This record gives sequence, C-alpha cells and structure tokens, in this order.
Amino acid sequence: MKKQEVIVIGAGLAGLSCALGLVNAGIDVIVLEASDAVGGRVKTDKVDGFILDRGFQVYLDSYPNAGSLLDHEALELCAFEPGARLYGRGGGVEVVEDVFRKPGAILKALRSKIGTVKDKLLVAKLRVEVQGMEREKMASYRGVSTVSFLRDYGFSERMIDSFFRPFYGGVFLERALETGAESFLYTFKMFSIGRACVPKRGMEEIPQQLASRLPSGVIQFQTQVLEVRDKHVVLEGGEVVKAQKVVVATDMHTADRLLGVKGERRSKSVIGMYFESSQLPEEGAVLCLNQDPSGIVNNLSVLSEVSRAYAPEGKHLISISILTDHVLDGLEQRVTQELEAWFGEEVREWNHLRTYDIRMALPYLEGEGERAYDEEGGVIRCGDYFKSASIDGSIESGVSAAEALIGMREQ
Ligand SMILES: Cc1cc2nc3c(=O)[nH]c(=O)nc-3n(C[C@H](O)[C@H](O)[C@H](O)COP(=O)(O)OP(=O)(O)OC[C@H]3O[C@@H](n4cnc5c(N)ncnc54)[C@H](O)[C@@H]3O)c2cc1C
Repeated sequence: MKKQEVIVIGAGLAGLSCALGLVNAGIDVIVLEASDAVGGRVKTDKVDGFILDRGFQVYLDSYPNAGSLLDHEALELCAFEPGARLYGRGGGVEVVEDVFRKPGAILKALRSKIGTVKDKLLVAKLRVEVQGMEREKMASYRGVSTVSFLRDYGFSERMIDSFFRPFYGGVFLERALETGAESFLYTFKMFSIGRACVPKRGMEEIPQQLASRLPSGVIQFQTQVLEVRDKHVVLEGGEVVKAQKVVVATDMHTADRLLGVKGERRSKSVIGMYFESSQLPEEGAVLCLNQDPSGIVNNLSVLSEVSRAYAPEGKHLISISILTDHVLDGLEQRVTQELEAWFGEEVREWNHLRTYDIRMALPYLEGEGERAYDEEGGVIRCGDYFKSASIDGSIESGVSAAEALIGMREQ
C-alpha cells in the first residue's frame, strides 16, 4: 500500500462518516477494516428469507447528526407505533400510549397502573423541558446517573421500575440505569421529537449507504491493524503503512489496546434472539417491555410488523433482547417458558432462528466527554464512546474527527 494522507482504522459508522468527510474535502484516505464488511456493530444477516439485525436496534429519525448525513427516503424507514405494551409477572399487560413520539400522551393512560398521576404529569413536564434543552444544559447533569436524575425529578419508584427500567434498560442495555443522565435526556428528547424506525431492509442499510458514497477501493477489508504509531500503522503480517495522520475509529477497547492506553473501561453486553412464527403473537409495530425484574426477557417486538420485508410471506419475525453479560443455560427454553405467560401456548410452536451473544455492545458512559473525538500524540480517536453511545453519537464523532483533520490541513 502506498503512503496515504489519512488512514482510518475501522469501517463502523464513526470510521465511515470520518472517511466520507475527508473524501468530500479532497483528502486522500484509506479505511482499513478487520472484517469482511462495513458497519461494525450495525450488521444484518439474511437467513432463509428473514432479515436478522445483529441485536435489536432502532434508528431515531430525529437524530440530528445521522439525519444530516443519511438519505432517510432511500433507507425507506419503517416506524414503530408510538407506544409500548408493558407485560407484568404472569402476563398481565398495560398499554402506554405514544411513548416514542409523545411521552406526554402517557396522560391519556391515566387509568393505567403505570405510575401515579404525579408521574404522568412529570413525564409531560419533562417532555416539554427536553424539547427545548440544548446539549450544554444536558451536560450540566454530568456525573449524575439516570436513576438519580429520575428520583430527584420526583418520579415514584414504581414508575421507575415498571416503565423507565425496561424502556431505558433496552436503550442503555442495563436496567440499573447507571448510565449518565446526559444520555437519558438526549435520548428522551430524540424519542419525544422523532420516531423509532428500522430501514425497510435492515439496519445494515445505514452503513451501506455511507460506504456507497466512498470511491471504490477506499475501504480495504480483512485488513487488521495490530499497531498504531504517529505516522504509520502495522498490519497483521507485519506490513507497515505510512500516513500523515492516523484515525482510530474502532471500538473503545481495541482503540485503547492499539494505543497502549491502560485501565479498565466498562461496557455492556446483550443477547439478541430471533424466532419465527406462522401465528402473529402481538399485532402492530409495537415495543413490548417486561416490567418483571425477575424475568430474563427485557423487550420483544414482532419486526415483520414494522417492516414486512423482515420475514418471508406468511411468517412473522420475533426479536427478543436479554440483558446479560453471561451465557444462560437452557436459554431458548427459559425464554419460551417466560413468553408463554405473555402469549399462551402458541409460543411452543415458535421456531428458533438465531441467537446473537453480543459482548461489548455499548460502552458505559456515566458522564460523556466534552468533545466528540480526541487527539493525542498526533493520532485521532473517534467512536461511540465519546459523546453518545448510539448511531448518532458514532456519526457525530466521525464527522467531528474529519472536521478537525480538515482544519489542521488548512492551518
Ligand atoms: C446490540 C446493539 C444494540 C444497539 N442499539 C442501538 C439503538 O437501538 N440505537 C442506536 O442509536 N444505537 C444502538 N447501538 C449502538 C450503535 O450501534 C453503536 O454505538 C455504533 O454502531 C458504534 O459505531 P462505531 O463506529 O463507533 O464502532 P464499531 O461499530 O464498533 O466500529 C468499529 C470498526 O472497527 C473495526 N476494527 C476493530 N478493530 C480493528 C482493527 N484492529 N483493525 C481494523 N479494523 C478494526 C471493526 O471491525 C468495526 O467495523 C446498539 C449497539 C448494539 C451492539
């Protein structure tokens, strides 16, 4: 490989957004990607006519950074209905209306047992507040966990347990809600003003769209970087590639290893399971949440009700998320047993398609950084572990890293 102006390591959303910014500025760039495809943590498998995202993910069409880079129309976004169904121990269900788009509509559910009247009014108040809230104000809650914020705001323990833990547990991949309040406020705002969607043909359409805008040959697949220095990288096999600047756009743990950064940083894991069924267990593009803390399922959706393309004709695709960092014995049996209480004996007819055990799915962000990227010793780092552990956060980080490099070049 010849000497490049910039080497970007990793073709996840951060790396792709960074590379795109550099290419658009006329900078000579190469992206070195260890795997055989773009997308990093946003990947999709096609299995027997089903579309299986590697772990349940949604794209919020209110994401500002992603929205300014992506062509939403071309993604053919399919939206979840604004609302959630909350299953309790033994299968009782409560409906919370308009949680996605208008959390304020929770007021309509005054008769529901989810929270007190005060809780419902607080949701409406918070919704109004976050809609006008700038990132700087959100950042003032740095160091405060989501659960402390919710308690201080006045929400009852019952509201926190029955709604916020399963809903934001699914977003943060942890039900303790230790994730920083800044992340909570940001996502609460995004859910308030936007819709939760999936691209019609799977989440991987998002990175694929970005990659399609890069000139061919810019991404070098199956090229693992083993070592990073100021102006060169060393590949598996010993080859050295030189550059004026190196951008490390891998996940946080790999970036630390490549740059010799010491110290343990925590991340969160999740298990995503898919089942097929010929009977529809839950009508509509809804998110089903588990209020029962002793349950193992956190959330469930029939994805073929969101986008028909996710399952072949006559079949339904059920996606389940389990928040755990260790493999559970007899998982399939335990999940179907638990869901029998929700949907009845028809669950016994479901056919297990695939299980994704996703380690290090999200970084633990207890307090987000000031900047969307970092530079040390001439090497730039970007990724979802800076501002927001999300699709939007990784794109914001990649774009900011590119802008920083463009600025350096112009000096
Ligand atoms: C199960 C799950 C559910 C999620 N749900 C949501 C959601 O609903 N909404 C949302 O907004 N976000 C969600 N996220 C978060 C979002 O997907 C991530 O924050 C984002 O994709 C991270 O992108 P990234 O580019 O920072 O990192 P990555 O996607 O990790 O990309 C890093 C890239 O670097 C490559 N790489 C690593 N090491 C090397 C090396 N040594 N040499 C070369 N290449 C290397 C990797 O192969 C990878 O392609 C979810 C994530 C997961 C896993």
